[in-house]
Amino acid sequence: MTTVVLPDALFTLTTGPVNAYPDVMRALSTPLLYDYDPHFLDFYQHVAEKVRTVMHSRDMPLILQGEPVLALEAAAASVIGRHDVVLNLVSGVYGAGFGAWAQRYCQTLLEIRVAYNQVIDPQQVANMLRQHPEISVVCACHHDTPSGTINPVEDIGRLVKQHGALFVVDAVSSFGGMAVTPDAIGADIFITGPSKCLGCPPALSLVAISQAGWEKIAHNPDAPRSSILSLLDWRDAWQKNQPFPFTPSVAEINGLNAALDHYLHEGETVVWARHALTAQACRAGLQAMGLSLWAADEAFASPTTTAIRVPVGIDEAQLRAEARARFGVVFSAGRGETQGKLTRIGHMGPTAQPMYAVLAIAAYGGALNALSANTVDIGAGIAAAMATIGAS
Ligand SMILES: *Cc1c(COP(=O)(O)O)cnc(C)c1O
Repeated sequence: MTTVVLPDALFTLTTGPVNAYPDVMRALSTPLLYDYDPHFLDFYQHVAEKVRTVMHSRDMPLILQGEPVLALEAAAASVIGRHDVVLNLVSGVYGAGFGAWAQRYCQTLLEIRVAYNQVIDPQQVANMLRQHPEISVVCACHHDTPSGTINPVEDIGRLVKQHGALFVVDAVSSFGGMAVTPDAIGADIFITGPSKCLGCPPALSLVAISQAGWEKIAHNPDAPRSSILSLLDWRDAWQKNQPFPFTPSVAEINGLNAALDHYLHEGETVVWARHALTAQACRAGLQAMGLSLWAADEAFASPTTTAIRVPVGIDEAQLRAEARARFGVVFSAGRGETQGKLTRIGHMGPTAQPMYAVLAIAAYGGALNALSANTVDIGAGIAAAMATIGAS
């Protein structure tokens, strides 16, 4: 006989898709307006302005009608032209993936690659920029989620500005969970989405573009128009007297509005602090059980994802299956190169609550102990997590 765990009984502690906030779920079920209904036109502009507020961006960000891979590919297509020399920074699966898009549009692709448990060293970027004055675009992934590591985008952004290149940043899984905004890191194209730390379902992208970014796009003869990959098409759509290039995702805009209200009402610094504390408690507990973080240095371990190295002799997929079957706790696998080597515990939006770290530690330890004679001390893990929470 098989036991069925109802989805409602699952603790989804993943790194995206994440469980959405209840107020987002309620907003998704509110009536759908015609996109040219005057009320919706007002509402869309209002939501766009709220996005600008939370992103602290000078220019009006775009809301694109697809989860953030759309925005990443659209950014590559719109910004990078056939004469560009692109420097792509790779410390993980998403960084590498952006290189594949950049390659499609640029003249020359240069890369700095580091091991996927490391982060990019700004000194290396400085050297590369000095050796290649022709570099015109630099691309970085802030939080490479399949590694759970945070790249020093602020330092890199400063170097890119000095060099006079454009800076494209994937901040999909960091924005909303830690202090990162486009202007603060000097990003010209800053790509994120509400489906990670803002606690929405995967469906939309948010893109902040600087004046220099818009100028580059406007002067790129290869930038798509009348296309799902076009950023230009959406430039003015936030204004209630301007047409949409195609139908906006009405229900998702309702959900996004609720997520933004949630974020603004709680206050960004409070939101970031609970993400940081949850991750800190989680790392403390896992390490107290004798386990190793994937990140080579805890200093760059992400506040929104904890990636834990799978102990030798354990099958990672089986470990997650045990955690789900025995405890109803769902974790994320690695991806690409990190698949099978690590397990990821998400601290994003509604699950960025310190007590979820305790739950994660108990379930991860319990699953390990079910699979191995080499048992871990779950009590020590919980005690360390609780001590971290108590000391905050
Ligand atoms: C989640 C995420 C995206 C969106 O991509 P999916 O693979 O569709 O989930 C892009 N970049 C990063 C860093 C992400 O974490």
